[in-house]
Amino acid sequence: MSPQRKLLLLGTFVHSKTQQHLEFLHNAAVAVDEQGKIAAIERDVAEASEAQARLLTQLGWDEAEVDVTVAAEGQFFFPGFVDTHIHAPQYANAGIFGKSSLLDWLETYTFPLESSLADLSKARRVYTRCVRRTLSHGTTTATYYATIDVAATNLLADLCLSMGQRAFVGRACMDNPDVNPDYYRDASAAETLRATQQTIDHMRSIDPGFDIVSPILTPRFAPSCSREAMAGLAQLHRETNLPIQTHISENLGEIQLVKSMFPEADSYAGVYDKYGLLTPKTVLAHAVHISEEEAELIAHRGSKVSHCPCSNTSLTSGPARVRWMWDRGIDVGLGTDMSGGYSPSILDAARQAALVSRHVAMGIHVPEGGGAAAVEQEKERERVKLTVEEALYLATRGGARCVGLEDKIGGFEVGMEWDAQLVSLSQVSDDGGMEEHDHGHGLVDVFGWESWGDRLAKWLYNGDDRNTKRVWVKGRLVHKRK
Ligand SMILES: [Zn+2]
Repeated sequence: MSPQRKLLLLGTFVHSKTQQHLEFLHNAAVAVDEQGKIAAIERDVAEASEAQARLLTQLGWDEAEVDVTVAAEGQFFFPGFVDTHIHAPQYANAGIFGKSSLLDWLETYTFPLESSLADLSKARRVYTRCVRRTLSHGTTTATYYATIDVAATNLLADLCLSMGQRAFVGRACMDNPDVNPDYYRDASAAETLRATQQTIDHMRSIDPGFDIVSPILTPRFAPSCSREAMAGLAQLHRETNLPIQTHISENLGEIQLVKSMFPEADSYAGVYDKYGLLTPKTVLAHAVHISEEEAELIAHRGSKVSHCPCSNTSLTSGPARVRWMWDRGIDVGLGTDMSGGYSPSILDAARQAALVSRHVAMGIHVPEGGGAAAVEQEKERERVKLTVEEALYLATRGGARCVGLEDKIGGFEVGMEWDAQLVSLSQVSDDGGMEEHDHGHGLVDVFGWESWGDRLAKWLYNGDDRNTKRVWVKGRLVHKRK
């Protein structure tokens, strides 16, 4: 790849300082070096031009070797989104789920589509569109499930690398003949491991440091895997330290199935723990119905949870309790779980996380007649609701922690990599119309009197890909919208 040009970004920058707080840097400048790393940040100077001059002098950079991007009035830079759980092959089914729930959804919609992507021209069409679409929504890192097909999985990795999306690409492992259809499963545990190794070898050949594209070990979910396959993948993890992803406790029928299939374990999380898959590098999608003991075990092992609110609602799985998991010390990020979830947008996932937390609140019973118990329950109702700041944290730094990239992405700090988006919100003109250049800017209208916190709230609740004007990964411009 040809070396990148240096970047200088000027204007307003917004990122999560902590789980509860957004930081706003105005009239600031960020310098990004040829490796895509943030080399320096100037904040709160009187004018952006002054910040630019100071930074160039400080770094000894010549203006001619730097591409400058200025955030105009109403625009701001925001960290790129991290999707910690998404199924690339299912993109073609986004929105198609009828009234199904998990197990019949897999049979009816998912396995037929996934198996059909062994046709590489079809896989190329679906994967190209999926990567383009998620980039256009500001997803700079995606943790993908692919299919069981090695060539198609390798193709997804190739496409992520060429289009510049940071990605974990996992070949779906599923060898249990009792649960998986004959037309779509691995022939044996040995075949699962052999095929997985081929995808690892391929990704090592195209991106030796796994800088942009990394393999991720992907036992589909416990029922789909033999004990030998799970133990073999765990062994591979210990040898390679590669990350692991799987599903957990999404749906009550699934939990019953796990219970009947694995009597040797006390719980669903216990199955993964028994076969060595519960590690600090494991991302567990859903965790809707996990017990107190399972939460304790997951926290103790340092495994992470990908919260997938859109999917959990669409497939009637249930409302996962983010505050409850945070209280128990579990790191949580967001997943679209497309196409269990219909939306490829992490901004949408953040919005739905906020809304689902309100459903969790509404489910907390407040006893009638007042009293101390009622007061406590009222307080708890308030406490479990996620704020705008928390939802946006989940979409960025929270997700980065889930995939072990918290030192590299998710915020704007010197030494971190420039994975970012330029967001633009419509400015309403004096007569209530739109400025000429604002046509096509989406649903968010800014009148000019809003605080910056309110602008971010407006973006969270009404924003979409029309607001995402530019997207960078590791300093490379990977998406641009007029
Ligand atoms: Zn999933």
